[in-house]
Amino acid sequence: MLVLDRKPLTPAWASPMRQALEGVQGYKAGMTLAEAGRRTGLSAFSKLASNENLLGPSPKVAEAVMTAMSEPHIYPDPHSDVLRAAIGERLGVSPARLVISPGSEALIDYVFRAVLHPGDSILLSSPTFPTYEIFGRCAEARIIDVPRLANFDMDVPAVCAAAAQGPKLLVLCTPNNPTGNALKAEDFQAILAATPRSTVVFVDEAYREYHEAFDTFAMLDAWGGPWVSARTFSKAYGLAGLRMGYGVASSPELVEYLDRIRPPFNVTAVSQAAALAAWEDQDYLQRTVALTIAERGRVEAVLDEMGVEHTESHANFVFLRSPAGPDATAAHLLHQGLIIRPTPVAGGWVRITIGRPADNDALIAALPAALSL
Ligand SMILES: *Cc1c(COP(=O)(O)O)cnc(C)c1O
Repeated sequence: MLVLDRKPLTPAWASPMRQALEGVQGYKAGMTLAEAGRRTGLSAFSKLASNENLLGPSPKVAEAVMTAMSEPHIYPDPHSDVLRAAIGERLGVSPARLVISPGSEALIDYVFRAVLHPGDSILLSSPTFPTYEIFGRCAEARIIDVPRLANFDMDVPAVCAAAAQGPKLLVLCTPNNPTGNALKAEDFQAILAATPRSTVVFVDEAYREYHEAFDTFAMLDAWGGPWVSARTFSKAYGLAGLRMGYGVASSPELVEYLDRIRPPFNVTAVSQAAALAAWEDQDYLQRTVALTIAERGRVEAVLDEMGVEHTESHANFVFLRSPAGPDATAAHLLHQGLIIRPTPVAGGWVRITIGRPADNDALIAALPAALSL
């Protein structure tokens, strides 16, 4: 008889599941509002744990969603043609080089499954977004980690040396999550120059809208190998709940392979309409990005005044070292109605999303006690 309450990571029954999954620790998402409510008895929170845009999306999204909701019985366009045309036009790339996914996490999945054979290697630099390692292990890839320097910048000479060995996949996340710092153009250039054109370069630009440091596509095209840039509507565009991301690939042929793996109806009609409305309202995007960057500066100035160590963030969050330790700080702030993200990064680091001005006021007021200053 099958006993159902076994721990999934150590099944005592003869598991039919792939051996490779035994060592995989699933992604730990930030605390939900419901969970925060259960733990504290409070009813209102500033959700500063998942880098959502608390200013919300363009007001034009609501109208587009209502219109799209009028035909829930009709399948969505499996190729998101209208959206791809709009994205391609503004970015100056052919829509045939674009792939749409329910969030960029799904794009990571498509690319990793399309590229990696068991035993292939992935080069990454920790601490970084955990999904690369999770999906890499699911694909039975070998993870080659070139750890970041003490200030969390990439160790560019070491990455170049490892890239020159020809990993199957090179992952570059800029600005990097959870540390916030970004690659400089000359470092991106140096890493590409060291990388053979047999390697697939995957650039995660989830926070691109907050920091357009260089023309990623032009530099990747000049390098000349296969590449995918992953972008998302979840962060600056404020659509995390509707799950929309997109990838730009080096060639239409690469997209054709991703389309074999991609479930045909992977994004809903409602999500396509919402993303299109958000994409078309660039004025709104620029205003919300400018406000978030200004608010990040305000929070960082307070951190500096308090003598709190933090990275140079180019994204919609700050990454700081807590003298009290990440878990104590997160627990303290939770009881003040602030959900933040403790991280396992050595030295006691926490990641805190920049919210609306009032969220940031509450954070600034609560921080000294939460950090035990
Ligand atoms: C948030 C995030 C993603 C995933 O976002 P989606 O909601 O799946 O688009 C991907 N990469 C990084 C670095 C992120 O921070």
